[in-house]
Amino acid sequence: MIVIKGVSASPGIAIGPAFVLENEEIVINRVDVPKAKVAAELKRFRGALEATHRDLDAAEAKVLKMLGKEHARLIDTHRLILRDPLITKDVPRRIRAEKVNAEFALSESLEVVNQAFEKMQDEFFRERRHDLFDVGKRLLSHLLKQEKKSLAGVRAPSILVARNLLPSDTLNLKENNILGFVTDLGGKTSHTAILAQSMEIPAVVGLSDASHRVKTGDTVILDGEQGLVIIHPSPEAVERYEGLRRRSLEEEESLERLRGAPAVTADGHKVRMTVNLDSIEDLKTVTALKGDGIGLFRTEYLFLNRTTAPGEEEQAKVYTQVARALDPNPVVIRTADIGGDRLSQLGLEGPKNEANPFMGLRGIRLFLRHSDLLKTQLRAILRASVHGKVHVMLPMVSSLRELQSARRIFVQAQQELEAEGLELPKKVPLGIMVEIPSAAILLDAFLEEADFISIGTNDLIQYLLAVDRINEEVAHLYDPYHPAVLRVLEGIVQTTHKHGKKVTVCGEMTSDPKAVPLLIGLGVDVLSVTPRMYLRVKQIVRGCRVEELKGAVAKALRMPDSDQIRRLLAELEGR
Ligand code: PEP
Ligand code: MG
Repeated sequence: MIVIKGVSASPGIAIGPAFVLENEEIVINRVDVPKAKVAAELKRFRGALEATHRDLDAAEAKVLKMLGKEHARLIDTHRLILRDPLITKDVPRRIRAEKVNAEFALSESLEVVNQAFEKMQDEFFRERRHDLFDVGKRLLSHLLKQEKKSLAGVRAPSILVARNLLPSDTLNLKENNILGFVTDLGGKTSHTAILAQSMEIPAVVGLSDASHRVKTGDTVILDGEQGLVIIHPSPEAVERYEGLRRRSLEEEESLERLRGAPAVTADGHKVRMTVNLDSIEDLKTVTALKGDGIGLFRTEYLFLNRTTAPGEEEQAKVYTQVARALDPNPVVIRTADIGGDRLSQLGLEGPKNEANPFMGLRGIRLFLRHSDLLKTQLRAILRASVHGKVHVMLPMVSSLRELQSARRIFVQAQQELEAEGLELPKKVPLGIMVEIPSAAILLDAFLEEADFISIGTNDLIQYLLAVDRINEEVAHLYDPYHPAVLRVLEGIVQTTHKHGKKVTVCGEMTSDPKAVPLLIGLGVDVLSVTPRMYLRVKQIVRGCRVEELKGAVAKALRMPDSDQIRRLLAELEGR
């Protein structure tokens, strides 16, 4: 039995025979092209470009059908790459100047970019090079008139093992009997991983040499929860994992009865449980949870992977659809938090080449700089407020001045719409995310001016502990149970309650089963949870005893060390 540790890219467990996808090493020879044949070579390259565009159209149709519009945007990224001067200008330039074959010119251009990507510190950007290769490989296969390796030969349900999988490869997995996949390369934030999660295919990536160690037909266990791959598992391991898989299926079934059931603790305290919505594509899933509304609608997806910002009409349509679907429950729509790791291609002045993007022009800072974008979004949100219960939330607020400036634009947008004849609700609440330490420290002042607050633990933890939330090197320091985090959360709850307002948490802590009792014990009133964990968290809430948890939290607040706090929480869980 061999156990290899990789990176969990998509959760779930799969057990079955391996199907190893042979490494598609494409050998590209340099061929000199005589001057008289250069024009023909250029034409051949243009033909391959056109064929690749047709491939992308076909892939887009497929993604649209399988995963919906938002994921189809990935194809737009590939189209942008295909239209990039690196491909459209640099390759023909090489063919002309160096008098070489198109394959060689293309591989040379790709190599230059590869080297640039490899030097990047940021994992998110390094991963984007796979999109470039995906496009490059499609082009090469047309030039070489090669078929891409097919999975059509996979007869029995299998676990796919490959050196690397490109996002486009991921699309055919389910229809080809693939239970899950493991790859030598890749990271958690690659498009391949994101697509695998959407398609609910378990996956482990970054295994370095799994594709050499596994042979087709070997029995493999893929543990997408822990990021483990077990080759030739012992009968005991197979039995244990079969048991785990059965239990997780049973648990999912038993959670089903909690849809629509009240989120009330075992000692009778009602907890409001809302859902986080990351894109309109998840709206059906979210409404089917029958929760208490949407506590965070992240609107960034509307602004990413495109070169022009969405207009008022486009946005109003989306927000109205969401407000209507949830009515009479409220929807908290957050103005776009672009910047940080959510890079837009809108060509805005600002968040380019920032040394510290998470400390840079992000969220409300960017939108106050480009106040036309903020106004357009606020108008679109306000238009939706006619059709349901809408709240507006500002991300990354660090000073009162930002809230005041945004409110001025908000009031202008309200006045404009009313002058245009729209009858808006009497009050559309305007609130802030508390996710920067300065907002937590200055909370009493913010509470005088903000209609509500919501704690973004993801960023609050990163800024409190000075730990970049996407940097693997410091991931071990990113600690939701750090005593400083606990104390700050406690302070926020106390101050907010003193002002007679409710405390919502909408960061990932609400979706961490161990952290939920802690938040309840701290006195948090509303949990906004990721759809995937919603029913599980409700089950935990229904098992909580608030008085007991308050006592435990009082103890935890005196602990100077997160290990002690974790142990205390584990004891509570074991009871
Ligand atoms: C947070 O920071 O906790 C949060 C909910 O916002 P995001 O994850 O979108 O930055
Ligand atoms: Mg945040």
